[in-house]
Amino acid sequence: MSSYLLENLGMLEGMLRGRRLSLFLDFDGTLAPIVARPELARLSYEMKELLRGLVSVYPVTVITGRSLSDIKERVAVEGVVYAANHGMEIWADGFTMVYDLGREVKGELKVLLRSLREITERYGGTLVENKGATISVHYRLLDPGKMDEFLSEIMKVVQPSVEKGLARITRGKKVVEVRPPVEWNKGRAVEWLLQRSPFVSTWPVYVGDDETDRDGFRAVKGRGTSVFVGGSEEEADFHLEDQDEVRVFLGWLKELRT
Ligand SMILES: [Mg+2]
Repeated sequence: MSSYLLENLGMLEGMLRGRRLSLFLDFDGTLAPIVARPELARLSYEMKELLRGLVSVYPVTVITGRSLSDIKERVAVEGVVYAANHGMEIWADGFTMVYDLGREVKGELKVLLRSLREITERYGGTLVENKGATISVHYRLLDPGKMDEFLSEIMKVVQPSVEKGLARITRGKKVVEVRPPVEWNKGRAVEWLLQRSPFVSTWPVYVGDDETDRDGFRAVKGRGTSVFVGGSEEEADFHLEDQDEVRVFLGWLKELRT
């Protein structure tokens, strides 16, 4: 079970002293507050300044389910590495890595995209986001009374592809994600980056608030520090309550300069 981080900074400092750190930071719900419409999520001025400061001290990756173009534009801090699309698209000055899905899977996702759009057109407050390798079906503004009906329609469309082994489904906060059937996730992206400069032989600090961040927590277990945002969490070393506390913690890390 995780410890409340702000009351255990002394302990963490002891763990981090003498190590070269790298940071892996989720975006929505971690660096930026969750908002009703994902396209309105933005970094506060303070958080952006803080990121600028952190980048000058440590290698920093923003790791997210968002598409690469979306997250680059939203963060827009020079020197940040991006692991977008749950780590399937990694971008930094000097290198890019895009996971190759293969033709069959790509074709299947294209067909699903069309069918899912037909459904969301009939339900207000929902939308389909095409992220290339994955499709996100958002329903934050859907009438709660229509939730079950909506989700069962979505599942009905996606289930056959899942059974054929051509897609997977994951659930996040008010979002269903249709993903390719590959064993690639935020955790694998962290492992991939940790084998490369400038992350190699650093001590990763992973901060995230989502189901999908658990893969990240597992990837740094025993060789890094994991921080869950949103109350205590079994898979993480530490937890924070909200984005304000994330800001406090990141400010502390910046001053630590280990
Ligand atoms: Mg998140």
